[in-house]
Formats: sequence, structure tokens, C-alpha cells
Amino acid sequence: MGKCGKVWLVGAGPGDPGLMTQRGIDVLKVAEVILYDRLVHPAILLNASPDVLWIDAGKTPRGRRMEQHEIHRLLISHAAKGKRVVRLKGGDPFIFGRGGEEAEVLAQAKIPFEVIPGVTAGIAGPAYAGIPVTQRGMSTELLFRIGARAEGSVRGKTLVGYMTVEGMGDFLERALDLGFSLSTPAGVIERATTSQQRVITGTIGTLANLAKRKRVSAPAIVVVGSVVSLRNKLRWWERRILAGKRIVLTASEALRKGWRECFEDLGAEVWEIPMTHIYPLIPEKAWVQKILKADWLVFTSASAVRFFPQAVGDLRKVAGCKIAAVGKGTADVLGAIGLPADWVGQGPGSEKLVQGWPQWAKGRILHITGDAGDDSMIQRFRKRGYQADRIIIYRNQGGRSVPKPVQDALQKEGADWLVFASGTAASRFRRLFPRLKKIRQVVAIGPATARAARNAGWRVSCVAKEPSAQGVLRAMMSTS
Ligand code: SAH
Repeated sequence: MGKCGKVWLVGAGPGDPGLMTQRGIDVLKVAEVILYDRLVHPAILLNASPDVLWIDAGKTPRGRRMEQHEIHRLLISHAAKGKRVVRLKGGDPFIFGRGGEEAEVLAQAKIPFEVIPGVTAGIAGPAYAGIPVTQRGMSTELLFRIGARAEGSVRGKTLVGYMTVEGMGDFLERALDLGFSLSTPAGVIERATTSQQRVITGTIGTLANLAKRKRVSAPAIVVVGSVVSLRNKLRWWERRILAGKRIVLTASEALRKGWRECFEDLGAEVWEIPMTHIYPLIPEKAWVQKILKADWLVFTSASAVRFFPQAVGDLRKVAGCKIAAVGKGTADVLGAIGLPADWVGQGPGSEKLVQGWPQWAKGRILHITGDAGDDSMIQRFRKRGYQADRIIIYRNQGGRSVPKPVQDALQKEGADWLVFASGTAASRFRRLFPRLKKIRQVVAIGPATARAARNAGWRVSCVAKEPSAQGVLRAMMSTS
């Protein structure tokens, strides 16, 4: 996706840097502007990129104090310039942190925003002190309240109910004892924060019936209080284009760099189940000798290109060689490392490459490859009278085993999208899941992968035009 301004209201957790969420750290890494509070642990800030713009929004009783309207102005102006802005707050942004006000202002200014909850001090503090805030037989209610001096003039409150799907009617009725009325807004959030999140709102008087009619089931959380009405303005979750979609990525760690973030940013729930583990082999002296003898270096995979510089050690050693790529995808990666291809095949596959090999490309051929393929390409070249050889510079192993509960969940619930970035992944995934029923769509990174996936028995719904996360995304968008 292109760069578009956005604000993330992020909870940094109560103090211990390890208590910040993974999602929070992910967005911190790509932030361009960070407005942080005094309460945020400095070690957390080390996750940000070095050239981020830091804005201290510290609000201490003494010393400099940034007014809330100034914070609002900064959030809006940076996001409006197209920046990725993180508003980092101690604990949880919506618990006594004025995050709700900031969200309101952003909604008003039509700036897209997301909320990343944090572990609030009211739960973490007691937990680290060895105090469970609820305990069977001792405490069935938990109250968060702010000190009298921090209080504004209005004294509303919020009631949050756990385990309330059964007996929701009773729960809401008892809420009346707390001073709420039948017309007080109330809502229920089913499977909150997952791709199956569903929110139903009404009032204390209507919610139980609505929930029954819409077949709300556990797990769900009930919220009661006037704050529920803010949802009309602040609902951000369902506004993202991939909200509610579950995407399974099967590419190796190396190939899928940045893919998860790309899909998560648009609201998807991403499961990474790598089918391959690709890693470079320790360089051998013989490789360079073969390279020095070669006239043509032939690349048939992005991985070979990626591991090539470390395999030769010094790229100047290939100054005398011409470079060939099996297809445009590989040629693009070659260009990116500063070795533009002298000849690009029509791809895919070694057979086509050898058939299309141009008359003018004379001399010895060296295939730079991994251990997954066989030597059929160099055999074909030899049959046509060329001197051909290969070096294997990386290994392509099966991915780590998939945990049983993950396999079961996938069988039972399926996914909206299955993404294949290589033919190997498609066939390995099929072997692992011979009878996977509930996959709604399959997307392939390119035509060769699509063909391999079809051969493995997958019904491919769309094929990316460029071999990248963006390419896959565009293909997905054009089908759904
Ligand atoms: N949004 C924050 C709360 C901000 S209000 C959250 O969800 O935790 C600030 C108050 O939070 C402080 O006055 C203190 O009472 C409490 N607090 C925050 N971090 C704390 C910590 N590490 N230890 C104890 N109290 C903390």
C-alpha cells in the first residue's frame, strides 16, 4: 500500500518492557512520529527506527506540560502530512489515559486510526505484587476508579461483564442498582480482537433480547455505560478493508519479511505457517573457481540471488560474467542487488529457459541454485552442446512442524485466504492438509506458483502480477 497517514493509539503496558504487546512493537518499528508519555519505559523506545521524530507529550505536575489540545493538533497535523504516527501511552490508552478524547478528535478530523490496547497498571501492578484482583470465593467484582482530584465534574461509570452471555438479562437488570437506567447504552463484544469479532449494541433494556436474536455466544464481554455510545463515532476495527479476514501465509521466514505487517495493517488476522526454511550454505572455495570460469551465471530463484553476494564474498569477482534470469521476478531481485540481468527468460521452469536460450549467448554456463531442484537444467544445456555446471548455495528445508492445536483449528475453522509464495509451499501444504475444506480463496505469488498449486489440487482464485506482498494484496482486492 502507498504511504497514507494514520495514527495508532498504543498502550505501552505498565512499565516492564516485556509487557508491551507484539502488535504495539510492530507499529513502533515503522512509526515516523512518536508522541510518548512520561510513563512509558525508555527501553520500549529502543524499538523505534533511529530517524523517528520524537515528541515528548510528558505531563508531569511540575515542569513542562503539553496541553491536550496541543497533542491533538500534533497528531492531526503529522497524520495529515501522510506520516505514520504512534501515540504511545502508559498502560492502556483507553484507561484513564485520555486516549478516548484523542480518538474522538481523530474521528472528527477523518484521520484513520487504530487502537492497540495495553496491559493496564490496575491489573499488572497487583499481579506483580502477588495479588489476584479476582478470586473465586473472594471477589467477583473489580472496580477501577480515579482519585478525587483527577475527577472532572461528571461522574459517569462503566460496567464490564465477563461470562455474561448466559444470564445477560439478570446481569443487565442488576446494573440498574448501580444507578444506570433502562436507556443506558450497553453493548456486547463477541470473540473480541479476533477475525470473528462481532459487536452488538443497544441499551440495558434491549441488549439481552438483541443478543439472543443474533445468537451471541461465548466468549463475549458486555459493556454498560454512556461510553458505549462513543462507538458510533470511534468504531475503527471494521473500517479496515481486511477486517474479519483470516489469512494464512505459507512462505519461508526469509521471503515473507514485512508481509504479516502489510496484511495486519489492513485489519487481517494473519497466521504464519511457513512451509519452507531457506538458509545459505557456508561458502566453498570451489564456488568462486567455478564462477571465475563461467561466462554466464543463471539465476532461477529469488533466494539464489539473495544469498549470492555472501556466496562470492566480493561481487567484483563476477565482473566478467553475463547474468541471466529465469523470468521477470528473478530479474527484478537481481536489479535490486545491483546485478541487472543481461538476458531475461519468459519463465517459468528450466525447460523453457533452455528452449529460449538465445543464439548469441555463448560460453560456459553456471547455474546458481538451491538444493531443492535437480540438475535437469544443466543436463538440458549439455544436451544442446553447452558446457554447463551448477553450484548449490542454499538449502530449502521443510518448515517446522505445525502444532496440533493449530492444525485442528485450521481444519475446523478454515481461513479466508491461503497465500502461496512458491510451488514447493503449495505442495507441502497439501501434503500436510490433504482434506482442508474451509479455505475460501487461494492466491499465488505468480503464474509458476499458481500452476504448481493447481497441480497440488488447490483451486487458485487469483495470481499476483508482481511478486511482492503488495502484488498479492492487489490480486486479492481485485477478486473479493
Ligand atoms: N493508562 C494507564 C493509566 C494512566 S493514569 C494504564 O492503563 O495503566 C496514571 C496512573 O496509572 C498513575 O498515577 C498510577 O496510579 C498508575 N500507574 C501507571 N503505571 C504504573 C506503574 N508502573 N506502577 C504503579 N502505578 C502505575
